[in-house]
Amino acid sequence: MPSRRPRRRGGEHVPLDVDRLLQGVARVEHRAGAEWHVQPIGARSAVKDYACPGCGGTIPPQMPHLVVWRADSIFGDRAIEDRRHWHPGCWRAS
Ligand SMILES: [Zn+2]
Repeated sequence: MPSRRPRRRGGEHVPLDVDRLLQGVARVEHRAGAEWHVQPIGARSAVKDYACPGCGGTIPPQMPHLVVWRADSIFGDRAIEDRRHWHPGCWRAS
């Protein structure tokens, strides 16, 4: 389990919606008949490029985003290995 806590950064412009996501709490969402774990990733934890499956675009390092994986998978840990990184807006629009 991650032990670091995302800290609020002062003096830096962060959109309100993303700021809320920086709380770092995984939640379960129901989408397309399935359950998904949705874990917000803060800017400090985003250290490499990810391909967003929603738009096909790149999530660059230090961009807060979401990590999503199946919550109801029978594959357990394998579902975590198959997690995907999403732009928050792309996940909401999916
Ligand atoms: Zn996207």
